[in-house]
Amino acid sequence: MFADLHLHTNFSDGTYSPEELVAQAVKKDLAAIALTDHDTVEGCDRAARACEAAGFEFISGTELTAEQNGNELHILGYFLDTQNSKLLSEIAKFQKVRQNRIHEMVSRLNELDVPLETEAVFALANCRSPGRPHVARALVNAGLCASLDEAFERFLKKNRPAWVPKMKMSALTGIELIHQAGGLAVMAHPGLNRTDEVIPELVEAGLDGIECFHTKHPRPTVEHYLQLADRFNLLVTGGSDCHGLSKGKPLIGTVRLPYAHVEKLKARVAERKIETTNAHE
Ligand code: AMP
Ligand code: ZN
Ligand code: FE
Ligand code: FE
Repeated sequence: MFADLHLHTNFSDGTYSPEELVAQAVKKDLAAIALTDHDTVEGCDRAARACEAAGFEFISGTELTAEQNGNELHILGYFLDTQNSKLLSEIAKFQKVRQNRIHEMVSRLNELDVPLETEAVFALANCRSPGRPHVARALVNAGLCASLDEAFERFLKKNRPAWVPKMKMSALTGIELIHQAGGLAVMAHPGLNRTDEVIPELVEAGLDGIECFHTKHPRPTVEHYLQLADRFNLLVTGGSDCHGLSKGKPLIGTVRLPYAHVEKLKARVAERKIETTNAHE
């Protein structure tokens, strides 16, 4: 039995609806999936209902945009209470900034004589957590770029003329936010960011796990992070980081986390619940 614990839908920059994502998961013979849209938990209820109907396990999640010592890193939250008011009010701030950032990216493009309309981006994104991939797709749809790659290369990549930095929460705040919503905090794709030096500080702050298995982690990277997980006593997670059809063929199910790791995650959540109950007595 296997799980894919890193998936995006059209509630952020993936292309599948929650129902389409679940239909794909069924085809890939997965035992469990987690939804981890950027800075939102909006798609979780629909995905949970679709999973229930299909008879397999759903884990609610998110992928928070964070930073530690100036390095961008992503913190995955799992088993979240998706109605938690502090979580919802905090991520709403990040969503607002993401929306403002779209306006700013489009004005920069307009200054470069690229006649993209803000409305075209928002209509296409149709979600609270829009990002650069939506701008890239709008550029292609409007015939202003030939491909998504061209859009990123010419305009949207870091330090290119229409690039606008994103607001990030401190990783320590992110971990705390996830914990107070009943969730587990996991460092996403550490092999992409290569900032291993921040791991001890995150562990100190209560980091629960590390994403060892990921599409962009070749085997030696997986081994490296499995060793770090062992050394720091962190839980192990993994997922494909599927964005639907936006990056070519859908990745769902191509990274397969052995289900035993999901059992360990669930055991940690259960332990946490007992600890908090005792603390309140
Ligand atoms: P944002 O959250 O708005 O900064 O956008 C980040 C998203 O853009 C991630 O899902 C990346 O996979 C995607 N992305 C970043 N750089 C590129 C690139 N050069 N080509 C295509 N997609 C990219
Ligand atoms: Zn994404
Ligand atoms: Fe990420
Ligand atoms: Fe992701």
